[in-house]
Amino acid sequence: MGERHKVRTGHKREYCSNCLSFFVPPKNVRVRTGRGRVSMTCKECGTVQRYPLAYARKG
Ligand SMILES: [Zn+2]
Repeated sequence: MGERHKVRTGHKREYCSNCLSFFVPPKNVRVRTGRGRVSMTCKECGTVQRYPLAYARKG
């Protein structure tokens, strides 16, 4: 139980490209969406990654 919630939606990154930390929001990553984009700020190293929201579209 519980595992089913984790659906692969085609996220571009689940790891920080800089320090390779596995993203666990909101523990070590801040995820912000807006204007069709997603920005993920790694709290470990401060790297900000952005990608089009299309990658994270639900359904
Ligand atoms: Zn990082």
